[in-house]
Amino acid sequence: MTVSEELFERSQRVIPGGVNSPVRAFNSVGGTPPFIVDAEGPYVKDADGNQYVDLVGSWGPALLGHRHEAVIEAVHTAVDHGLSFGASTVGETELAETVVDRINRSATNGPAIDQVRLVSTGTEATMTSIRLARGYTGRDKIIKFAGCYHGHVDALLSEAGSGVATLSLPGSAGVTQATTAETIVVPYNDLDAVRTAFEKYPGEIAAVITEAAPCNMGVVTPGPGFNAGLRELTREFGALMIFDEVLTGFRASSAGYWGLTSAEEGGWAPDIYTFGKVIGGGMPIAALGGRREIMEYLAPNGPVYQAGTLSGNPLSVAAGIATLRNATGQVYSAIDRASSHLRQEVGAALDAEGVQHSIQSAGNIFSVAFGTGENGVRNYEDVKASESYRYTAFFHSMLDSGVYMAPSPFEAWFLSAAHDDAAMDRIVSALPAAARAAASSERPR
Ligand SMILES: *Cc1c(COP(=O)(O)O)cnc(C)c1O
Repeated sequence: MTVSEELFERSQRVIPGGVNSPVRAFNSVGGTPPFIVDAEGPYVKDADGNQYVDLVGSWGPALLGHRHEAVIEAVHTAVDHGLSFGASTVGETELAETVVDRINRSATNGPAIDQVRLVSTGTEATMTSIRLARGYTGRDKIIKFAGCYHGHVDALLSEAGSGVATLSLPGSAGVTQATTAETIVVPYNDLDAVRTAFEKYPGEIAAVITEAAPCNMGVVTPGPGFNAGLRELTREFGALMIFDEVLTGFRASSAGYWGLTSAEEGGWAPDIYTFGKVIGGGMPIAALGGRREIMEYLAPNGPVYQAGTLSGNPLSVAAGIATLRNATGQVYSAIDRASSHLRQEVGAALDAEGVQHSIQSAGNIFSVAFGTGENGVRNYEDVKASESYRYTAFFHSMLDSGVYMAPSPFEAWFLSAAHDDAAMDRIVSALPAAARAAASSERPR
């Protein structure tokens, strides 16, 4: 028995499923999740002393790699001043200013964001964003897309991605019918379906919430003009557009996926952005932001209540500021380069074994959809029809070769600025065996 196996037995006694977030479980791929004791740069080490090249990156936050010197130093400095005060600190303002500045520097039609409210998790950010949209518009219904994940908010769990998709669940028990009755789920990349929903419920839809680019059903690239089309439709029907950049924000580019794409789509901007993951560089923090007239609807100045004992926690804020300060242009171009190199190598390895696939990307974020033609996957139905069972063998082969990937075919591959040539070579040399394993996978009955 390995140390991880022993630790997992122990954790399962006192923690449901042995994990504190279902995506960490190995239910869909089988086996025992390694218990991690240490991480540095592009590597993680488990309790048995195995070192892996990490392609999970804490599910996104580790943009600079693990234990980046400046981030660790900033947190140490913050620790020396106390852990939490439940009062205002200048760091919160600095982080909000950084977010506003980064977004507006990429805006081509005047400022896209004026204010930011800091919260502790991405779930809180999206939950608050729909409450704010409802409060602002005085409407109840929201539109979400099948396969998009926005955290474990009751109203947003219908046909959600991430762990909900991995475990093949339609949604979640414990969510009332009354709650989901206000959620309209439509297929991704389908503007006609959005228009039809708006026409069916005139004056009732508060917001459309969408992932900037879906990365929680595997990556699904928004079709050309899809996000801009959502902007036009929401405007036409008087609803808000909530752009969930919790995963893509400050990762796809210095201004997120929006920063990569909005300028060439006419310079549109959403009404509310949500951020998380990279914004805390590994500490719990997230945010929502938008124009002043909308954000001022939040308490204490406005009628939409939102609060948090640990919101804007000084350690999280310090980690976030240091992460964004060090996420320079060179960092993004290094990750972009590594990503396109790896995509090429993955494609070549799978081609060599005759494994039909498509590689879906959203900037430097990508994933592989098995058994799909050149057109790839456009929505959740396509994802569900793909040969995702091939991932199990692929995943275990990579793990055996010392590459730690998400234990689900429906998650993205995350690179960091710390993935140097040595780390990349290790990933690349693991690919042929993994491709062979994927090729010989049998469809489960
Ligand atoms: C991770 C994620 C969330 C939820 O964030 P948590 O911090 O896990 O609550 C929301 N939206 C998207 C797009 C995400 O990827």
